[in-house]
Amino acid sequence: MSFPFQDVIPREHEAALPEACDLVVIGAGVIGICTALYAARAGLRVLVLEKGRVAAEQSSRNWGWIRVQGRDMAEIPVALEAQRLWSALEAECGGRLGLRTVGVGYLARSDKDMAAFGSWLEEARPLGVSSRLLDRAETAALTGAAESPWCGMLHTPTDMKGEPWAAVPELARLAVAEGVTIREGCAVRGLDLAAGQVAGVVTEAGRVRAPRVVLAGGAWSSLFLRRHGVDLPQLSVRSTAMATGPLPQAVPLAAVDDRLAFRPRADGGYTLAPSGWSELMLGPDTLRHMRHYLPLALKGEFDVHLRAPAPRGYPDAFGTPRRWRDEEQTPFERMRILSPEPAAAKVEATRAAFAAQFPQMGEVALAASWAGMIDVLPDVVPVVDQVAALPGLIVATGMCGHGFGIGPGFGRVVADMVQDNAPGHDLARFRLSRFSDGSKLVPGPNL
Ligand SMILES: Cc1cc2nc3c(=O)[nH]c(=O)nc-3n(C[C@H](O)[C@H](O)[C@H](O)COP(=O)(O)OP(=O)(O)OC[C@H]3O[C@@H](n4cnc5c(N)ncnc54)[C@H](O)[C@@H]3O)c2cc1C
Repeated sequence: MSFPFQDVIPREHEAALPEACDLVVIGAGVIGICTALYAARAGLRVLVLEKGRVAAEQSSRNWGWIRVQGRDMAEIPVALEAQRLWSALEAECGGRLGLRTVGVGYLARSDKDMAAFGSWLEEARPLGVSSRLLDRAETAALTGAAESPWCGMLHTPTDMKGEPWAAVPELARLAVAEGVTIREGCAVRGLDLAAGQVAGVVTEAGRVRAPRVVLAGGAWSSLFLRRHGVDLPQLSVRSTAMATGPLPQAVPLAAVDDRLAFRPRADGGYTLAPSGWSELMLGPDTLRHMRHYLPLALKGEFDVHLRAPAPRGYPDAFGTPRRWRDEEQTPFERMRILSPEPAAAKVEATRAAFAAQFPQMGEVALAASWAGMIDVLPDVVPVVDQVAALPGLIVATGMCGHGFGIGPGFGRVVADMVQDNAPGHDLARFRLSRFSDGSKLVPGPNL
């Protein structure tokens, strides 16, 4: 049983490199592809460069939740816009993104859980969320749990799910149809700089001139930036997930409690995961950035387990070079697809917990299990900003486990930033300088 999207599938996007374009996007995950799509719609000549395959890292490995519920207040307006964009994109892609408004629920075991949900809701309601608190009976009815252990839930009926294995590759096809050039198997080694400004990129297949570059490199972004002297306290945590085979569609919503997350899949199974549980592999960046993560660690809300050093070739492995020359092979080429092994014990425990919670499912067999490296930042919100030290470079990274759902929203925002248009939202919370200008970091909600 393994993740189905391996590098054995032939590459789909092998366009020749242009000499020049208006915008180069580094990384063909959901953020890079959506940025490219909306920039092309505005008339820009856009090139997306991907070291491996479209969406082969986080953007196809996620749970598929497209939620507003539980988000940081600064993200909510972007997430609401993203949901509108997802609906339009689903129509444009002929229904192949697997989009459905299933609703998202956070299940409470205690009054303390309900109080935390309630305080988020109080702040979020004025921003236009549809969320509400449900009592024990409403929760049991909605989840279909035979014996409901939950005293209530926070429920957002307008939240959605998509099918990550299909959605971003489909969006990439839409982008190509609208004029975007995508090249898989082509790592960007660094920026081409002239007089301190971005003049293009240096790739393993040659140079491309461009006045604007967007870095949407997921877990690799800080490694890329470090080579150019920009310090981003980004780390990555391993997160395990799995898919069951077809089962009765008795649980219609996406929901999570303190142990288990589940949502129905388009193929008749469920995507399952141990909720909020992740693993941090030790590396030089872990040590370097530890101080930034102290406020988060002190909050004590995240179930993160420190593990042995990251395997060879990982972005934060001890042996991974931090500096290289343009002519040299880079860490991006040495690891085309970052594909961690799932945590086997958690896979079986999660399957068993789901089967025990929903006996009406009958025997629960797994069809696949996988893991992904989620890129995180110390305050659990992304960086979406111009890089002041490198004019012409925009960074959109550190999506902190929220990037799939919010992807089209930030893609639209970044496409406007590239054109110097107003972004349409207050992006102050996502500024890069917050890690270096003495700002007090305020961690976003762990909901
Ligand atoms: C198990 C799991 C569950 C999750 N669940 C959810 C969820 O339910 N809802 C949600 O909204 N989010 C979820 N997420 C998070 C979400 O998947 C990510 O936030 C999102 O996919 C990040 O997209 P991205 O485009 O920033 O990065 P990625 O998808 O990681 O893409 C970055 C790409 O950049 C490429 N790249 C990097 N450096 C270079 C270079 N130098 N040259 C060329 N290419 C380069 C990489 O190969 C990669 O393909 C989950 C993540 C995981 C792993």
